[in-house]
Amino acid sequence: MLNAVQRLDTARETNCTPEMYEQLYRRSVEDPDGFWLEQAKRLEWVTPPTKGGDWSYDPVGIEWFADGTLNLCHNAVDRHVEAGRGDATALIFEPDDPATPGRSLTYAELRGEVVRMANALKAIGVKRGDRVTIYMPMIVEGVLAMLACARLGAIHSVVFGGFSPEALAGRIEGCASRFVVTADEGLRGSKRVPLKANVDAALAEPDHDTPIDGMLVVRHTGTEVTMTEGRDHWYHELASDEECPCEPMGAEDPLFILYTSGSTGKPKGVVHTTGGYGVWTATTFSYVFDYRPGEVFWCTADIGWITGHSYIAYGPLLNGATQVVFEGVPNYPDHGRFWDVVDKHQVNFLYTAPTAIRALMREGDAFVTSRNRSSLRLLGTVGEPINPEAWRWYFDVVGEKRCPIVDTWWQTETGGVMITTLPNAHDMKPGSAGKPFFGIRPQLVDNDGAVLEGATEGNLCITHSWPGQARTVYGDHERFEQTYFSTYKGKYFTGDGCKRDEDGYYWITGRVDDVINVSGHRMGTAEVESALVSHAKVSEAAVVGYPHDIKGQGIYCYVTLNAGEEGSDALYAELRGHVRKEIGPIASPDHIQFTDGLPKTRSGKIMRRILRKIAENDYGSLGDTSTLADPSLVDRLIEGRQNR
Ligand code: ATP
Ligand code: MG
Repeated sequence: MLNAVQRLDTARETNCTPEMYEQLYRRSVEDPDGFWLEQAKRLEWVTPPTKGGDWSYDPVGIEWFADGTLNLCHNAVDRHVEAGRGDATALIFEPDDPATPGRSLTYAELRGEVVRMANALKAIGVKRGDRVTIYMPMIVEGVLAMLACARLGAIHSVVFGGFSPEALAGRIEGCASRFVVTADEGLRGSKRVPLKANVDAALAEPDHDTPIDGMLVVRHTGTEVTMTEGRDHWYHELASDEECPCEPMGAEDPLFILYTSGSTGKPKGVVHTTGGYGVWTATTFSYVFDYRPGEVFWCTADIGWITGHSYIAYGPLLNGATQVVFEGVPNYPDHGRFWDVVDKHQVNFLYTAPTAIRALMREGDAFVTSRNRSSLRLLGTVGEPINPEAWRWYFDVVGEKRCPIVDTWWQTETGGVMITTLPNAHDMKPGSAGKPFFGIRPQLVDNDGAVLEGATEGNLCITHSWPGQARTVYGDHERFEQTYFSTYKGKYFTGDGCKRDEDGYYWITGRVDDVINVSGHRMGTAEVESALVSHAKVSEAAVVGYPHDIKGQGIYCYVTLNAGEEGSDALYAELRGHVRKEIGPIASPDHIQFTDGLPKTRSGKIMRRILRKIAENDYGSLGDTSTLADPSLVDRLIEGRQNR
């Protein structure tokens, strides 16, 4: 196991010392209702709640703060203005093209803009309880649309702007949404994304039969689009400054529907509610990032994912924070763009994903070291296990060993961060997410459900509910019960495998569906992948099991190399030897396939289920591929497999 990295002396008063963490954690599990009712005071309620959690995992029913009423848009926006913080900067917009002027909004301006958006939504007929599909580029209006829905009590369903018309149609249909907010076009790395045309195509899909009552179109690039009379409206023509009060909502009223990434199967449309989700994102943002007023936060996720919901639209704004909204991509105009943005806006917190870190690392240090980055104070990662090698690079090169890293494990279904180190309370261990957040009770169980104690490895469950937990799968409570609560009765099963070490740190080993069993030895994919990535020439690796006559399962590795490197027989042998040395002969790869890319979801996660099928030579039934980022890659991978 790698050595722990000491807590860094950040020379400022901390919001959570090691002692405070222990004390607060103990309180949060001994008296969850008292603890969370206390945390609920972070928000302003119309009717403050008197009830904490009321939940059961068998049968499944979950409520938090059920007798409270509030509005989250009020809490994210108006409240700060009313408290005299209207002049503080809320959003700093950084466009795709660095030569295009950006824009920045104070909280007072944000309030004005949200009201305009809410009035436009009203003008097309949106009312409390309606579902509104948001299919937007990463521009300020995307965040405005979410907040405006919350203001009116409408339920937003954000669909990532990179999804195809077909995927969009399925998600509009999935929640019988009768309203769409979109833009003429989006921009990503100078490429134009025909958003409005995609919505038109989605609505024209032959099996799409939910009529749309109204669509708002934001003019962004100014390109010409087709507007259907009576249905489609320009946002700027309907926006108005009339008063638009916040609708008081029940804590358990749905706030949004959001689909999971689709790494392990058909995406699930999970439902989050107002009060619990609000308290959870406000509390986790504050502790995990240790944010102070005036500092600049930047989460690079798209609002199409849960990370963009919890740590762009809600968590930071509920805390009155200043944050960057970035339209672009890490490699445009060049691989130094992230660091340019950091310098330009004096960013203090960077929260991104392992896929981006590995992609930037692949291009060498010069893109990073040629930029200043002295404003950075804390780095975060989320989405996949981060290989220790990538962690080290993030820590040493990007953060110059002065910025703590928070490796935050969580899921769409958990609403916010569940396992992480806190910047001033814990030592860090590269590759480990760390310790449970307040109120989170992780449990590791074996395949029969027997509870495993101490330092061990097993299937990660959570035994008690927390405020940010998803309440259901939209329109399919049975799928919710089946997916998360039926494998181990009475527990929430995450689907992830996990190790716990002697210090009580958690190490996510990958999806349990991906666990490989070699001659009776169970192995997580993360460990073998990290061994491969620790080789100087390897950029990324994905490891799957495939049927093997003698071992039961063999180890099949897909490997991408650093810029300028090429696969060869010599490198093949070298990598096998490297893994044997790093982990042991049992983990020795049976096959290594060099590839120019790995199949990933649109949110950047490796889809091992597809790689498993290809390794098994089973190309007929690749399963749901609707969230695949680059479908053409699959053919190249199959070709590579057949040439072996
Ligand atoms: P689907 O549920 O549709 O298969 P998904 O699980 O990828 O897709 P998300 O909710 O976006 O959808 O991702 C949650 C998963 O991401 C977790 O279950 C875990 O496997 C992985 N993950 C997230 N953060 C981390 C992290 N810090 N370390 C390790 N794994 C992580
Ligand atoms: Mg999942």
